[in-house]
Amino acid sequence: MKVNILTIFPEMFSPLRESMTGRAIDNGIIELNIVDIRDYTADKHNRVDDTPYGGGAGMVMQAQPIMDAFRQSGFGGDVIYMSPRGEMLSPELVSELSEAAEITILCGHYEGVDQRALDMLGARDVSIGDYVLTGGELPAMVLIDAVSRFIPGVLSSEESAFDESIYSGLLEYPQYSRPAVFEGEPAPDILLSGDHGEVDIWRWEQSLALTKERRPDLFDKYVASDPQLTKRQKKILEKYLQQNNEK
Ligand code: SAM
Repeated sequence: MKVNILTIFPEMFSPLRESMTGRAIDNGIIELNIVDIRDYTADKHNRVDDTPYGGGAGMVMQAQPIMDAFRQSGFGGDVIYMSPRGEMLSPELVSELSEAAEITILCGHYEGVDQRALDMLGARDVSIGDYVLTGGELPAMVLIDAVSRFIPGVLSSEESAFDESIYSGLLEYPQYSRPAVFEGEPAPDILLSGDHGEVDIWRWEQSLALTKERRPDLFDKYVASDPQLTKRQKKILEKYLQQNNEK
């Protein structure tokens, strides 16, 4: 997948060269192309921003350097503008974007980008949450990391992007590792029992309880999806639904 970035802070993207995304870049699964918008400014002082028409605080990223950077770099695919005004980055959107052969991400700063550039690019505004960050670089990295997990070859063969909190329909159960007892606190016996069937049931029930407590919206969605459950799981789920009725 070709991932193109338009930014005024290209150095900010070095974290993508670490860990799993770093391996995906090294293996050619992700082709990361970063262009510094400032290299394309026509301003003799190298500026890429100016005051907003109509007045008000802050500065606006001008259309000219962005459009020249986009056109001259030959970037293609859907253009995504990271913006708190955008549609929320959801599991569905992550999965949709992971199927694209190429995407171009525009990172804003200051008060944002001249609307004419966004219109000319046909940009799709995407937000990573209801808070405002100082620039679009961190949101772009969040999007790229989330999307990369769905690109074949990025995760190891035993891992599945769907076998995680949210994507599985539930939040993940608590995890434990060695030692069996840490500072007097034992790991749950069941996890050391070697009984994989019982471990699976325990984990599923933990997931169910955690989801009900922390994300009742997800819990309701899970129940409404009519999941394939064994008789025993149905009985356990019934217990949790009963608690709803008793409230
Ligand atoms: N004035 C803008 C507004 O009120 O919508 C906010 C501008 S913000 C200070 C600067 C840049 O950070 C934005 O152009 C955008 O690229 C990025 N940004 C900030 N918060 C974001 C979020 N929650 N999701 C995606 N991008 C965000």
